[in-house]
Amino acid sequence: MKKAAIALLFTLTLAIAGCGNKAEDADSSKKSADDKTGSESAANTENGEGPLADGVLNVGTNAEFPPFEFVGDDGEPDGFDMALIKAIGEKMGVEVTVENMEFDSLVASIGSKIDVAIAGMTITDERKNMVDFSDEYYEAVQYVIVPADSEIASAADLEGKNIGVQLGTTGDFIVEDIKDATAAQYNKAVDAVNDLRNGRVDAVIIDKNPAQVFGEQFKDEIKLFDGESAEFGFEKEYYAIALPKGDEELAKSVNDALAEIKADGTFDELVKQYIEN
Ligand code: GLN
Repeated sequence: MKKAAIALLFTLTLAIAGCGNKAEDADSSKKSADDKTGSESAANTENGEGPLADGVLNVGTNAEFPPFEFVGDDGEPDGFDMALIKAIGEKMGVEVTVENMEFDSLVASIGSKIDVAIAGMTITDERKNMVDFSDEYYEAVQYVIVPADSEIASAADLEGKNIGVQLGTTGDFIVEDIKDATAAQYNKAVDAVNDLRNGRVDAVIIDKNPAQVFGEQFKDEIKLFDGESAEFGFEKEYYAIALPKGDEELAKSVNDALAEIKADGTFDELVKQYIEN
């Protein structure tokens, strides 16, 4: 009886010791990244967990936001943000895996399903209550898309209108403040634009670069307004990578990598390749 108990204790001790050794074994570290669930901290380096310890940075995105992220021909997320985070991962010396999910779920999934999120995500005070942000990497503003023959030409014209937005985005938050307007919320930006073309919504409010991509795609049917113009008066926004709250070591590692990529010209090359092409 006693012997068996000691043997069991010994086995358990070995098992527990094994769990702490993730960083030493690439295979088990990968498995631990896949197994992350619930409230387990994804990036707590001090406990030997998280991307810096296990060598895998699990990144969440919403691949519905060209040119920053879209589903490539091979079915995998592609775009500026994907190339940027892979370059950052390389500098950090970690493997990058990407999880494609709804934009609205990203912030809440940091620290459980994913380690960080990159998704053309604007730094906002509300999000800062839940996550930290890296240094900013891109300036943006909301654009207004309307049918080519629409009479909408100012913020006042949007009052009382049915406006398509991506759920949980800054465009969605702007509509909340427009008098008597209704937000038609979509998970995919392209669905909002298609409903605009079908006459189901009066306007779409979405970030500048995706708006320009759609503007090009449906040139004859839609027109765009720069939200920064006096007619609309929307504020500038800044994109950053969303990080687990309080993980200063991870934030430093990501920011150092971002700074290096900016300094060595990689960042500008990616802008040319994905955004200014
Ligand atoms: N920049 C917007 C936001 O952060 C939209 C991002 C997106 O739709 N991917 O809310």
